[in-house]
Amino acid sequence: MKALIINSGSSSIKFQLLEMEGEHVLASGLVERIGEEAGKISCLMRPGSSAQSTIEKVTKITDHQHGMVMAGEVLCDEQEGVVRSRQEIGVIGHRVVHGGEAFHQPTIIDDTVVAAIERNIPLAPLHNPANLDGIRVARQLFPGIAQVAVFDTAFHQTIPKRAHIYALPYELYERHRVRRYGFHGTSHKFVAGECAALMGKRLSETNLISIHLGNGCSMSAVEQGRSVDTSLGMTPLEGLVMGTRSGDVDPAIHLFLQRTAGMDLVQIDAMLNKDSGLKGICGLNDMRDIHDAAGKGDELASLALEVQTYRNKKYIGAYMAVLGRVDALVFTAGIGENDPIVREKSVAGLEHLGIELDVEKNLQRFKQPASLHTAESRVQIWVIPTNEELAIARESISVVEDAKYLKDARQ
Ligand code: ADP
Repeated sequence: MKALIINSGSSSIKFQLLEMEGEHVLASGLVERIGEEAGKISCLMRPGSSAQSTIEKVTKITDHQHGMVMAGEVLCDEQEGVVRSRQEIGVIGHRVVHGGEAFHQPTIIDDTVVAAIERNIPLAPLHNPANLDGIRVARQLFPGIAQVAVFDTAFHQTIPKRAHIYALPYELYERHRVRRYGFHGTSHKFVAGECAALMGKRLSETNLISIHLGNGCSMSAVEQGRSVDTSLGMTPLEGLVMGTRSGDVDPAIHLFLQRTAGMDLVQIDAMLNKDSGLKGICGLNDMRDIHDAAGKGDELASLALEVQTYRNKKYIGAYMAVLGRVDALVFTAGIGENDPIVREKSVAGLEHLGIELDVEKNLQRFKQPASLHTAESRVQIWVIPTNEELAIARESISVVEDAKYLKDARQ
């Protein structure tokens, strides 16, 4: 079966077509600058094969509808196309950022589901409307093909109240749904499943700490395969130090800055999201640039690295306490998969907790999952490349197959 995965943003649409037999990518594309004069669609066809090619067009792309029509045309292109018609697509999976408390799992999209995603717009005012644009257009353009919403928040819906309720007036939760939701759920769930399989254990018997370090960073405590705590909060700002996002800060800083620096709340919010984190400390947000600068003696670059890895270590310690028994730590995403220095600093000195990194293994480059612990380490340490598109595709197919099974069973 072929699965089309759509990640629709405010001015872009990422799409990927996967052949699920053998789980390989047929095409991977991006529609960008939707609504601007010079929009662009680019698509890598048959990546990694001898027939790999690229299709690229620069033209005005008026709206999401137009962008999606172009994506469909590229996939069916007469010369380079990977399908003859749209009908060859078996399922469409949509990434949706915020499912609030309404969605605990991937869900087949119908009008009720669209309305529920709409109700969650206040929780993700930038992301959910853009995700909904993609859903609406895809439902129009691909009638009759099952479409599934896969939520970034769903995996974390198992987090118990003691970990998701903030110590604020309780009525803020009751009236405005203020609580921890967590994000990156598709990635945490995917690497947790892969890790359990690699360790030869059942996921339902595995406790691990999943450490997603990319531009956005988050950690998740996974107990018997279920998320029981995570570092991102009501919004993707809390927790670890990220590329441009602050992670944890004293909430009273807002008022202090308003009084002393004359900043208003909108400016403070923008600063915390776009000008903080690694960038806030040293002016750079790409970890590769930070290593270069630190190597040349830039003290703030070294400090940014120290602050981020110290925070990582603090959260690992906290989640060790939450879980009690931990079978594995899993590093994933751009930094987690590629940066031996960040990995080493994040676990340095945790030998007393049974975490022992094999320094030599850690220095290798990985395209595939790999273990990094010493033979004596009580806790295993893994690098597992995340693959959110594949995860969305697997989940979409599984939910469609479950629905078919139930329908057949009822008849
Ligand atoms: P996103 O959160 O946008 O999905 P990624 O998971 O792709 O991000 O991670 C992007 C980040 O990964 C980059 O900003 C960079 O800091 C880091 N990164 C990528 N490659 C390397 C590398 N070889 N060494 C260190 N960091 C890397």
